[in-house]
Amino acid sequence: MASVLLVEDDPVIRGALIEVLSAHGHVVHSAALGFEALREVTARPPDVVVLDLGLPDLDGTDVLRMLRGISRVPVVVATARDDDAEVIKLLNAGADDYVVKPFSGGQLAARIGAVLRRTAPAEPAPAPPAGDGSGSPAAPAVARTMRVGELVVDLPARSARLAGRELRLTRREFDLLAYLAAHADQVVSRRRILADVWRQPYVEDQTIDVHLSALRRKLGERASQPRYLHTVRGIGIKLVAPR
Ligand code: CA
Repeated sequence: MASVLLVEDDPVIRGALIEVLSAHGHVVHSAALGFEALREVTARPPDVVVLDLGLPDLDGTDVLRMLRGISRVPVVVATARDDDAEVIKLLNAGADDYVVKPFSGGQLAARIGAVLRRTAPAEPAPAPPAGDGSGSPAAPAVARTMRVGELVVDLPARSARLAGRELRLTRREFDLLAYLAAHADQVVSRRRILADVWRQPYVEDQTIDVHLSALRRKLGERASQPRYLHTVRGIGIKLVAPR
């Protein structure tokens, strides 16, 4: 049994899938919008996410990338296309598996089972205390709000404030800042940032630099006189609270 976050805007499909997945013993929560899904993942981290790519508010692949900026939760994507380019794009964006529409609830349940087996920790988790009632093990939660000095990163709201002042960040700048805040005081290598934030090993190194310098500007600092964002030459990047 697992907790599943089902992201699907079509109420008929959503209802049918909830029924099938519940029959397979899963606890299903659902979201109809990409934005809602991101909020849900931080507020109530599921064991697995089923993500329909055709959502009304955000591009499904963007939702997948944003999700990857904040969580390692396994994601099974539901796509309408089955060509090589699409599958490569989805896997690069961080999907763990995919189903092609139209698919049966049975197939989806089997994919979820396979993904959960692959991603389960080697050691079985200790059983929750009797009478706990929740039945699902504590998920590896991402802190909802992170503080580094006067910098506050609010994951559910996808907002960041410095000394109470809202920072106007692009999607990727936010993802990068949130990632660095989650690893505050640690030097994070560019390779890890590319793998965990961009989820694409083939992004140009300068891409990170462009986003870093934008972040620096918005934090009101310079590379030559860093306060929060420190570049450790040849090693990586570190977010720290200024002394
Ligand atoms: Ca849809």
